[in-house]
Amino acid sequence: MKRRNFITALGVGAAGATLSACGQQDQQDCDNQTSSNVTPEQKFKWKLVTSWPKNFPGLGTAPERFARIVKDMSKGRLDIRVYGAGELVPALEVFDAVSGGAAEMGHSGPYYWKGKSPATQFFTAIPFGMNAQEINGWIHYGGGLELWQELYAEFNLIPFSGGNTGVQMAGWFNKEINSLEDIKGLKMRIPGLGGEVFKKLGGIPVMLPGGELFTALQTGTIDATEWVGPYNDLAFGLYKAAKYYYYPGWHEPGSMLEFTINKDKFNSLPEDLQAIITHAARAVNQDMLDEYTARNNTALKTLVNEHKVELRQLPDDVLRKLRDTATEAAKEAAASDPMTQRVYDSAFQFMENVKAYHRISEHAYYNAREL
Ligand code: CA
Repeated sequence: MKRRNFITALGVGAAGATLSACGQQDQQDCDNQTSSNVTPEQKFKWKLVTSWPKNFPGLGTAPERFARIVKDMSKGRLDIRVYGAGELVPALEVFDAVSGGAAEMGHSGPYYWKGKSPATQFFTAIPFGMNAQEINGWIHYGGGLELWQELYAEFNLIPFSGGNTGVQMAGWFNKEINSLEDIKGLKMRIPGLGGEVFKKLGGIPVMLPGGELFTALQTGTIDATEWVGPYNDLAFGLYKAAKYYYYPGWHEPGSMLEFTINKDKFNSLPEDLQAIITHAARAVNQDMLDEYTARNNTALKTLVNEHKVELRQLPDDVLRKLRDTATEAAKEAAASDPMTQRVYDSAFQFMENVKAYHRISEHAYYNAREL
């Protein structure tokens, strides 16, 4: 009886994996192409480099969770070791390390690679653009993932969505922001398209990895910084280095993280391990948003009640100008090259469509809940 159950379970598991890996391909072709040069028992040891301190809440624990799921589901056949920023490569060299094969996988944020292509920025966040729910819809059902794969193929990489923070906070400031004048000359850590908007309004955007923010803010190297939201900002102790905590995170309304995989390494895996990676990444993508949703509230209470952080909302006229400038900045980035234009067109078309329904669903519901 026990043995029969075991065999049945094995049969179902194997069929499930094959189906998932093959997707919509013809089953016969798919069976034929299952890697014949890899024995079923072959074990793989991979390195996964990240842009976060080892085990940093949410951002750093997500790749650890991913590695554990992959190890469990593959029964140890794919063993992935996760490295914090600087352990194997610096935080902002993850893309190159995986592209070149120094590590098989990476976990980071697409907008850190805007120097490779301005299109990467659209895969993290568009200022005043899509929220987490919407970007997940665009990536997985709106053509986003296919464009992203096409873009990264040039770099010998395969991308997967690797988590989402939800709407972020505008950031930590030692100076009040009462008008646009207060942005002029302000040196702020703010990456991606948000940084471009900030520059257009006379600010000085600076790019620093997360691990350097506290010291830069405390020593006055920068006047302000954005990071993520209460859960992550509390972990870095940013409240000790700045007085005001501004919202909303207009620049990052639902930032998507990424898993990157070296294309040759991925192709060398048997199909069941490829399927395990694909589905583990998708699970972790959703899991991160769940975790932030649960933890941000508690962290915000701690910041306000225990650490006496002053919460401030950006003035409406400042937000309006930021929004109009964001539209210009996104259009300018799109004009850099044909691929970026295609990514922009796809993202904005999806957003326009989704907004029509979200206006009478999500938005109307949030309003109704506060009546
Ligand atoms: Ca951020």
